[in-house]
Amino acid sequence: MPEGDTIHYAANRMRPVLEGNVPEEIRTPHPRQRHDRWPERLAGKAVKAVEPHGKHLFLRFEDDLTLHSHLRMSGSWATIPEGRRWRRSPRRAWLVLRAHGHDVVQFDGPVLELMTESRTRFDRRLAALGPDILAPELDTARILRNLRHDDPTRGIADALLDQRIVAGIGNLWKVESCWRAGVDPWRAARAVSDEEVVRILEEARPRMQESARTGNQDAHRVIYGKAGQPCPRCGTRIRSRGQGDDNRLSYWCPGCQR
Ligand SMILES: [Zn+2]
Repeated sequence: MPEGDTIHYAANRMRPVLEGNVPEEIRTPHPRQRHDRWPERLAGKAVKAVEPHGKHLFLRFEDDLTLHSHLRMSGSWATIPEGRRWRRSPRRAWLVLRAHGHDVVQFDGPVLELMTESRTRFDRRLAALGPDILAPELDTARILRNLRHDDPTRGIADALLDQRIVAGIGNLWKVESCWRAGVDPWRAARAVSDEEVVRILEEARPRMQESARTGNQDAHRVIYGKAGQPCPRCGTRIRSRGQGDDNRLSYWCPGCQR
């Protein structure tokens, strides 16, 4: 599932290939990009930085140009040594950057746009993003402030998914971190103390950091997708139900999450 750790993992893989280098070839095989002329606009420009923020990835090129990507549910990034077989069909590639003996490929979109640097700064969606859960220094104070300025009646798990409050937590980490912290995902945000919010973040962060290093997100799945099975902590059956405006599934243990 593409969450913040997935994007940081992808960034860690492509950084040594792209950063400081001019891609030898740029292709945009997907019909949606056919008329955008990105290969021409980016030709000869070096990638200055590969920057993840939450679930967003920014490839910053020379001359004020930035490729912005968001994978939603379907997309993926891969950094593939030349000559190695691709795991997805080349027809599903939206972007191919060849550099340093590798192909860096974005498959299945769905958000891929070339923007000027200043537009990324003023873009409302991007400017409103909360602190990245995987930033080198976690800005807990700002996350708490964002949460306390938001709808206090909203369930805490739903609020954690709001990328304007904290960026990078998706449905899996929401579920697992609330379970680890012993907090009921349905409890209203106003009834969750700052200490409890911090505990949830501190359960999420080191595991997401590990997943960003190894790419093995599944190792951290304990109750996600386990409705009806006994809770590993107390034996009560795990429940699940859609939550929030987007009806994203929550899993929780009614026995040990309060
Ligand atoms: Zn339990």
